[in-house]
Amino acid sequence: MQKTGHSYKLLSKIDEKFDAIVIGSGMGGLCIAALLAKEGKKILVLEQHYAVGGYTHVFKRDGYQWDVGLHYIGDVYDKNSIVRKVFDYITNGKLEWTAMDEKYDVAVFGDREFAFYKGKERCKSQLKKYFPSIKDHYSIDRYFDLLARVENVGMGYYVDKVLPSVLSKIIGSFLRQPLLKYTDRTTREVLEELTDNQELIGVLTAQYGDYGLPPAKSSFYIHAMVANHYMNGASYPVGGSSVISSTISSVIEGNGGMVLYSAEVKSILVEDNTAVGVKMKDDKIIYAPLIISDTGIKNTFLKLLDENTIRKYRLTENVECLSSSTAHVCLYIGFKKSAAQLQLPKCNYWVFSSNYNHDETQVAYQQQGDPIPVAYISFPSAKDPDWDKRYPGKSTIEIVTLVPYEWFDKWENTIWGKRGTEYTALKEQIAQQLLQKLFQIKPHLKGEIDYYELSTPLSTKTFTHNDFGEIYGLAHTPERFRNRILKPATPVKNLYLTGQDVFIAGVSGAMMGGVLCATSILKKNMLAKVKSKKHLA
Ligand SMILES: Cc1cc2nc3c(=O)[nH]c(=O)nc-3n(C[C@H](O)[C@H](O)[C@H](O)COP(=O)(O)OP(=O)(O)OC[C@H]3O[C@@H](n4cnc5c(N)ncnc54)[C@H](O)[C@@H]3O)c2cc1C
Repeated sequence: MQKTGHSYKLLSKIDEKFDAIVIGSGMGGLCIAALLAKEGKKILVLEQHYAVGGYTHVFKRDGYQWDVGLHYIGDVYDKNSIVRKVFDYITNGKLEWTAMDEKYDVAVFGDREFAFYKGKERCKSQLKKYFPSIKDHYSIDRYFDLLARVENVGMGYYVDKVLPSVLSKIIGSFLRQPLLKYTDRTTREVLEELTDNQELIGVLTAQYGDYGLPPAKSSFYIHAMVANHYMNGASYPVGGSSVISSTISSVIEGNGGMVLYSAEVKSILVEDNTAVGVKMKDDKIIYAPLIISDTGIKNTFLKLLDENTIRKYRLTENVECLSSSTAHVCLYIGFKKSAAQLQLPKCNYWVFSSNYNHDETQVAYQQQGDPIPVAYISFPSAKDPDWDKRYPGKSTIEIVTLVPYEWFDKWENTIWGKRGTEYTALKEQIAQQLLQKLFQIKPHLKGEIDYYELSTPLSTKTFTHNDFGEIYGLAHTPERFRNRILKPATPVKNLYLTGQDVFIAGVSGAMMGGVLCATSILKKNMLAKVKSKKHLA
């Protein structure tokens, strides 16, 4: 596989002017870059990591390859869905998707399994089989009705994010109001109004790892968005998650732009309250009339802007009230047999303890380190029809769980590979806990493992620059959705934000952040444009 983009060193060999600089090549950065490139603008994307793609990049070790931040995605198998149309538009239709099994997620509590099936009616009727009482059937019906309602009330909220501030002050509250009644309440508050069956609540919120917060802390809105996102089934990119960044980068570069890795931006240059360029880590200055940041709102405002600008717009106060999402660890496993030989499934497993209360199990884990509250297990080589061509006779698994960053912060200033025996022992302890979860559901894999390695929040911090190794940028609490600074336009003229913090987490959430950003910059409805277009270069 050819490396996507070019090394930063290339920039010194060319003398080009760009219409816009995008800082960060995650999904949000690449999406806005491609949208602007297709509008005739010459775009420079600067990525600090040695690989392009942010959380969609892959890493390789010992002859294996793993995904870092994409295991499945909803809403793309249907060619007419909005998410699919945006993907097709920014990749010129070059990105292919493959459907996972109809049973795409399986939640395991003790010795009971609960499957999530593609299609609202199928999913609902399966849940009713697991919970056969009339009372539970009634609650399940009301739950699905509520999900459908949430899906249809978000438009005004997002329109407000792209309105000029004067107009937003006049009609913004009116536009936002219909959604706020769902964002303001926690997932647990809403579900406990529908049912007092804690087992049912535990199963309905089994995918809480997809948004990083257990039911008593998450906004019901993010829960509903994720549940709706996968309602019509889940898919995986053919060729693995790095194909996302390679196909989008081709569009950016095909339209005269450039995508550079190992290109760390040190600061954003502001003159007369206007962003005019960036200063790189090597102090090189690159000017452009438009600067867009995909690095997250906290990184952008508090690390890349100068003291005067931060003070002038009270950015610290505005941003510090927003909590960050949790950190995570991931166990990357390699096998010297194919997915078919090992009978690996085309679905994910969420393996819990026998306690259905995710809030209780999260608190217990964070305080005592045991037992693991949830292990999310993904089988990428089974999902990808292209895998066997690239890695014949091999397969991989990824297992993720949420952890507090504080468990690792004392090693912050140590060097990768040389963090000491205590660190290695902690990693090994967590790796073994995660392996036990794997063997609980797939005991035949014992003795088959060729390679494993655990990433920690310190790894995430290195490749994303997120201070606390955050899994999803800002936390999806009710307060987040009340905050009005989370929009593409910033108080600094010509400086915009894209990615998950201006929309919601997830690869398609970050991508829609890019669509919002393009709408705000170009002052035209980019979603309508994308929906109406065939994917022309
Ligand atoms: C373990 C894990 C599993 C996940 N699984 C899924 C999944 O199955 N499905 C799904 O839809 N979503 C999943 N997600 C979430 C999804 O990956 C993210 O929400 C999304 O990719 C975020 O995109 P982004 O563009 O907002 O940010 P990012 O991908 O974080 O991109 C930001 C980029 O900015 C760069 N950067 C930061 N500072 C600088 C600087 N100073 N100079 C230059 N570059 C800089 C970073 O290096 C990074 O590449 C998962 C995430 C994780 C961590």
